[in-house]
Amino acid sequence: MWRATVLTLFPGFFPGPLGFSLAGDARDRAVWDVETVDIRDHGIGRHRAVDDTPAGGGPGMVIRADVVAASLDASIAPDDPRPRLFMSPRGKPLTQARVRSLASGDGVVILCGRFEGVDERVIAARGLEEVSIGDYVLSGGEIAALVLLDACVRLLPGVMGAQASGVDESFENDLLEYPQYTRPRHFEGQDIPPTLLSGDHGKIAAWRRAEALAVTRARRPDLLTNRRTDAD
Ligand code: SAM
Repeated sequence: MWRATVLTLFPGFFPGPLGFSLAGDARDRAVWDVETVDIRDHGIGRHRAVDDTPAGGGPGMVIRADVVAASLDASIAPDDPRPRLFMSPRGKPLTQARVRSLASGDGVVILCGRFEGVDERVIAARGLEEVSIGDYVLSGGEIAALVLLDACVRLLPGVMGAQASGVDESFENDLLEYPQYTRPRHFEGQDIPPTLLSGDHGKIAAWRRAEALAVTRARRPDLLTNRRTDAD
């Protein structure tokens, strides 16, 4: 089973939306699971304090290194092979390639930040890999963790149907996906492109490849610079 362990101040976020649809069904079938570790259980003193004011001054609060270390050490064995991620806007942007590599492993350990973030020293001391889900700031790492988990879980064997293996999807092969159509054949003056109704699988594949290239060139030319040209 692919296992996610999430360290958070808000365990109630999980599984949250991942209890529905494909991910929820797969969890019911024990394809994957998520367990939470409440960081507050490792807080300091009678009030279980988890944060303190930033060294050097400034607004907000910072989650303490000792509290995060205690949370990790109490819940993750030293030889646990799973990557340890810290959701952070300062992290490496999450890509479909990284999602595929995470989905092909045993699972993930994810630390969710809050407030101004987490004391830098524990990130280094526990070898956490900082991962961002985009160039904007969320109020906490939980929604970012849910995004990462959703992207991984749908790729686990047996989660998507056989026809929807994801191989043609956006970001596979550094391309966005070609446009999709379904019934009705005519919609408000627009028709389904005739090639898609031709039954000629070679022509359909060529049309889709050309459309994928065109939409990528128009919307995300940066992707094409990474691309292996022999795949065209
Ligand atoms: N002060 C931090 C900064 O400017 O980089 C932002 C802290 S944010 C309010 C609180 C937490 O939300 C972060 O520690 C992180 O866990 C999470 N977070 C916010 N934006 C994120 C993003 N784009 N990707 C991943 N995690 C994010």
